[in-house]
Amino acid sequence: MSHGHWRDVAHAVGLLGADGAVSSTIFAEMSALATRTGAINLGQGFPDVDGPAHLKDAAVAAIEAGHNQYPPGPGIPALLDAVAAHQRRHYGLEVDPRTEVLVTAGATEAITATILALAGPGDEVVTLEPYYDSYAAAIALSGATHRTIALRPSSEGFRLDPADVDAAVTDRTRLVLVNSPHNPTGTVLTRDELGAIARAAVRHDALVVTDEVYEHLTYDGVEHVPMATLPGMAERTVTISSAGKSLSFTGWKVGWLHARADLVTAVRTVKQFLTYVASGPFQHAVAVGLADEDGRTGEYVAGLGRSLQHRRDVLCEALVAAGFAPVAPRGTYFVVADGAGLGYPDAVDLCRDLPEKAGVVGIPVSAFCTPGGAVAEELRSWVRFTYVKREATLADAARGLARLR
Ligand SMILES: *Cc1c(COP(=O)(O)O)cnc(C)c1O
Repeated sequence: MSHGHWRDVAHAVGLLGADGAVSSTIFAEMSALATRTGAINLGQGFPDVDGPAHLKDAAVAAIEAGHNQYPPGPGIPALLDAVAAHQRRHYGLEVDPRTEVLVTAGATEAITATILALAGPGDEVVTLEPYYDSYAAAIALSGATHRTIALRPSSEGFRLDPADVDAAVTDRTRLVLVNSPHNPTGTVLTRDELGAIARAAVRHDALVVTDEVYEHLTYDGVEHVPMATLPGMAERTVTISSAGKSLSFTGWKVGWLHARADLVTAVRTVKQFLTYVASGPFQHAVAVGLADEDGRTGEYVAGLGRSLQHRRDVLCEALVAAGFAPVAPRGTYFVVADGAGLGYPDAVDLCRDLPEKAGVVGIPVSAFCTPGGAVAEELRSWVRFTYVKREATLADAARGLARLR
């Protein structure tokens, strides 16, 4: 008898106990702990300050103008145009807004709909590991098998080994799902690393799906290279992004993808029966932001990048002073740090004690790994913290962390 797909999802993310009981996620446990203890929540990655006022005004104006019913299934034309223009302006990619772009309920729906549309039982989907937690759940829903390529800490940040790419990507691989800039490690994949993935995908005729939600949030002059800009890759890449992280409106849930027209048709076929459409008035506001006709949004995003680079430095210094060994991230909202030096071989135990001992909350990196797998074991003592919080909040967190010494 069928047991329903929810068990596959719970199993894939490590929430199904041997007795069949389902536990809550470590994210929920840590957020509850933060609430109960009053600790600063550096576990969940969302900004504590809103995005730019002119885009809030645009959203209010869209509601006042009556854009309150179902928008068109593929997305409003102004946003489809703005996505295509954004890809041309930033990366020189030529995208047809009418056939090669799809607006989604955040990047999350774009990822899930793409996996459900393009992979199924008997297929393998390859991701980096650690990985954003929704990937394993979406792959489990599709019935495909999840394989991974490890990112390992080095003096050059978290890096992949091209030999691992060649081992993971085979003729069974249907999709390679790449996330750069990478959550949780903050790694920005180099052109060489992307090239190794691209060659393996071409060799085995796999498609590449890229999660680029942090595309504009890179630091130290490091450049984000979209997979679709590599020679021959535009035809076999589904590029996914979202307004949530770049514009600091994570609650608006406006995402998009672009790809070859037949791939967009395939994904839209699934997507239209997941949410059909979402975020009507917010699509109008994001269209204003992405088109950036007066340059105000670009100025905001550049300022956000500079500010996040500084906030990263503040948190990394505090972590070092507390006895953690962080690896400096080159992008995203996050830093991961080894807590073994604090006498905790398992970061789950450390994270349960941190609110009491330091007044902060973090997430064990094992939450982003295959339960019981080799990478979870290698990164067992590592913790992820976010620095997308006000400087005053990070200063409070730094004072708390200093108590660990
Ligand atoms: C936040 C995040 C997402 C989700 O984006 P939404 O637009 O909010 O759905 C997807 N991928 C990564 C890596 C993220 O960090």
